[in-house]
This record gives sequence, structure tokens and C-alpha cells, in this order.
Amino acid sequence: MQKQQQTLCVTGGTGYVAGHLIQQLLMAGHRVHATVRSLSKSPKLAALYELADRYPDQLELFQAELMTAGSFRAAMRGCTTVFHTASPFTMRVANPQRDLVEPAVKGTQNVLQCVNQIESVQRVVLTSSVAAMYSDVVDCQSKPLDESCWNTGASLDHQPYTLSKTLAEQAAWTMAEAQSRWDLVVINPALVVGPAISDQTTSESFDIVKQFGDGRLKTGLPYFGIGLVDVRDVAQAHIKAAMTPSASGRYLCNALDTDLFEIAQALRKSHAQYPLPKRRLPKWLVWLVGPALDPVFTRKVIGKNVGYAFASNTDKIRSQLQMEFRDVHPGIREMFQQLIDKGVFDQ
Ligand code: NAP
Repeated sequence: MQKQQQTLCVTGGTGYVAGHLIQQLLMAGHRVHATVRSLSKSPKLAALYELADRYPDQLELFQAELMTAGSFRAAMRGCTTVFHTASPFTMRVANPQRDLVEPAVKGTQNVLQCVNQIESVQRVVLTSSVAAMYSDVVDCQSKPLDESCWNTGASLDHQPYTLSKTLAEQAAWTMAEAQSRWDLVVINPALVVGPAISDQTTSESFDIVKQFGDGRLKTGLPYFGIGLVDVRDVAQAHIKAAMTPSASGRYLCNALDTDLFEIAQALRKSHAQYPLPKRRLPKWLVWLVGPALDPVFTRKVIGKNVGYAFASNTDKIRSQLQMEFRDVHPGIREMFQQLIDKGVFDQ
């Protein structure tokens, strides 16, 4: 293991996906340069400090901000690979251009400009999303979603998070193709579930699962097609993308084609005392009342997503990166238990 030890950079070190990625890299004996938004005392850093204690001399933290040019350079020095995971992941923003698109796109360009200046970097693994492959499930009814698909339906007014991921990934491909020293490999995960390494995680994944316990969905849930994948598998996919010399292009990273109800099914066995949704709501009812209950669910979002099945083709990641995906149910239960332990349902 010592012989193969590398120094790798992970952006967005406080993130849900990055936490597992860093942990798995350290466990494999690598040295990690992780970037965080602020090095000043923050509860979000506690899990990283614990990892630094558990793996002495393997983890170093650097301060870097997506909107500050050059700020990732110091963290990349001496690194062979850069994992770029940092990007705002939230559905609720005041200004989608300022709060989602600019940090995602300018941040990616900023990170890759730094890569261009650091000679040791040979590969960049970008955390994109299935959101860069489609905006609405209605758009992928003719064939299963795969690496050839691009999101063409998003705008600042409609699914702006998916717009931010699409434009960021496109910006990354443009910069990768403009040079020949480093190559770009992209991981496109579906909705990520499973336990976080930190109880301070603010990923939208936790907000989505929280709704299953706080009573917001107790009257029911419409059929809303999604893919689900465990966070530990997503981290592993990133590492395989970095360590497999022949890896190239995009990799759709999804364990299960399903719908949001799957989360309730997973929790019913272990957490039935919580107000989990028990029935499927008809589309007409959701169309009528949904926007008033949750502004993210506009009539356009409901019209283009409710009632449509999500189908994906994951042959590429399974055959080229030898990915095998675990059952998502145990991870959903662990994630929900983390929310309970944190007291989020106590109010
Ligand atoms: P997360 O926990 O919110 O992680 C996002 C990370 O980006 C955090 O470390 C955050 O720092 C950092 N970040 C955000 N804005 C920044 C800025 N202006 N400057 C520097 N750092 C900034 O979310 P996640 O679920 O781990 O997502 C990680 C990546 O996976 C994202 O690119 C996301 O789009 C992608 N993804 C996630 C899912 C999913 O279901 N979770 C699915 C597909 C793709 P702070 O902690 O300081 O806010």
C-alpha cells in the first residue's frame, strides 16, 4: 500500500460526499489535501479533525473559496489527482444565478485554472450529477438515461440546480479539451443517500430524507421517479475513476431506478412510529395544492415529473470501473437515525 501512496486533493472537504471520499482515501493509505471554505473554528470541521487524528500525517486542510481566483492552488501542490466535489447543493435559494450557477460554473473554472497551473496534476475527477443529464423525468421516457444524455430543459426559472450542474460540467469539458496534460473523468450520481461522516452535514440529501420524518409528507406522496445510490458507493466510484488509467468520459452512478416512495419503504421496517407517507397522492391533487405547500414544486415541475418512471442504464460504470452497488435501504435507515440522534424531529 505504501508503494502506491499518492497525494490527492479533494475540494469541498466539509461536504457529505467528500467526507466519505476523504475517509476512503485515507483508509487506503493516501495523503489528502482537503479544501474547506473557512479554517476558522467551525463545527463542520470536527469530523475532518477526527480523521486527521485517526490517520496521522495523512490529511491536511486548506482554505479555498469557489469564487476566489487562485484559492485552490496551494491545496493542489504535489497532487496527482484533484477531486472537485464542491458546489452548492440546495433547492432553496434567493437568487439562482448568484447562489447556484455562479459558484458552480465560475467555481469549476477557477478550480481548473488552478489545475492548469499545477504541473503534478494528471487527472481531475469532477462530481457532476444526473442533474446534468436531464431536467425532468418526462424527458427520458424514450430510452433509459445514459452518458449520452444532456440536460436541455433547465433554466434559472425551472430546475435551476440542474442548470448549475449542467453548465458546470460543460465548462469543465471545455477546459479539459483545451489542453492535454490532465484528463477529466466525470461521475454523475443520482440522489445520494446513506450516513454522513459528520452530524453537521447540510447536503440537500438530508433535507429530502428529513421530510419523511417531520410530518410534511404524512398525507402521502406522489409518484416521483428518481435514482438512488449509497454515499459510500459514490465515494468508491470517484476513487475508481481516479485509479483506473483507462477511465474516461462520464459515468452515470446509480444503484436503483425507483421513486421517492422507496425512502418510506426503507424506513417503514425500522422507523414506523414516524409520520411516514403511507399512500400515493394522485397527480391532479399534487398539481392543485403542491406549489402552495412547497414552492420548489411548481406546476411545471409537477407536470413534467410526477407519474413518470425513472430508468437508467449503468452498464458503463459497472463494466469499465467494476462498480457493484449495495442495497440502498440500510443506508437510508442509518441516515434517518442520524437525523433522530441529532434531534431534528424533537421540536
Ligand atoms: P454538500 O454536503 O452540501 O457539499 C457541498 C460542498 O461544497 C460543501 O463542502 C460546501 O462547503 C462546498 N461549497 C459550496 N459552496 C462553496 C463555495 N462558494 N466555496 C467553497 N466551497 C463551497 O453536498 P453533497 O451532497 O456532498 O454534494 C457534493 C457534490 O455532489 C456537489 O457537487 C453536488 O452537486 C453533487 N451531487 C450530490 C448529490 C446528492 O444527492 N447529495 C447527487 C448528485 C450530485 P460548506 O460545507 O462550507 O457549505
